[in-house]
Amino acid sequence: MTNKTTSNTNLNQLKERVVLVTGAGDGIGRAAANCYAENGATVILLGRTLKKLESVYDEIVNSGSPEPLIHPMDLLTATPQDYDDLAEAIKQELGKLDGLLHNAGILGKKAPIASYDPNTWCEVMHVNVTAQLMLTQAILPLMEESDDASILFTSSGVGRKSRAFWGAYAASKFATEALMQTLADELEGISNIRVNCINPGATRTRMRAQAFPAEDIKKNPAPEEIMGLYLHLMGPAGKNIHGQSLDAQNWNAPNPSQ
Ligand code: NDP
Repeated sequence: MTNKTTSNTNLNQLKERVVLVTGAGDGIGRAAANCYAENGATVILLGRTLKKLESVYDEIVNSGSPEPLIHPMDLLTATPQDYDDLAEAIKQELGKLDGLLHNAGILGKKAPIASYDPNTWCEVMHVNVTAQLMLTQAILPLMEESDDASILFTSSGVGRKSRAFWGAYAASKFATEALMQTLADELEGISNIRVNCINPGATRTRMRAQAFPAEDIKKNPAPEEIMGLYLHLMGPAGKNIHGQSLDAQNWNAPNPSQ
């Protein structure tokens, strides 16, 4: 059973917060951007395809949520200076950053290790891991100024137990788990920033269709249906959760009366 989520019974969970979402133009990132905005956040939409970001911008504005900002950026080619410029722009325009969802990712090719193309390997590792490192480094000082900040990384089932042919993608998700754990341990007890990983599970997106072309994609939940954990960890309800890797599907919100 999937959690029909956005758990938006209590809207405004992210009121007056500023949240950056990478890969916000499509799939899970698009649903998260809409969910966060619907809950009162000013969302910075980062992605590589301007048209898609504009479409999400329109969805958010048309729903009456706070106006988002668009930041086109290709994580494959962005330099440390580009990340510093982004952090500075957020500081100048919005004054703070309370949340970061590292969501953008690429699958690369499913192929045996024996013949895995090293260039594809490097691209997947760069977009899925190194870009997250550089973005995190650039925005940490700004997030340190927030009273309650949350950084979320995106993992995968093959980031915990790999399988044949998942090559660079699986390696990148193991590395993502390690990056999250290392950062969480470094910030433990000395920071208001909490750091966690989400494994979305099989979700009805373009990447899932690419990974499983023969599958009936409709059997998987839509991104909007798995937003409960994304919202919980981003907002004040998840304040005490730190250094964990959690599954978005079959996740049940804790009962506040317990
Ligand atoms: P999609 O392919 O639907 O969306 C990926 C997003 O990342 C797109 O918006 C894409 O931009 C963006 N992106 C890719 N490369 C770059 C880049 N170089 N620079 C900037 N943005 C980029 O995938 P999902 O929504 O399915 O995946 C989201 C996350 O969830 C990924 O990290 C994925 O690994 C993870 N995941 C997904 C699962 C699933 O079943 N769907 C299962 C487990 C994990 P554009 O649209 O412009 O290409």
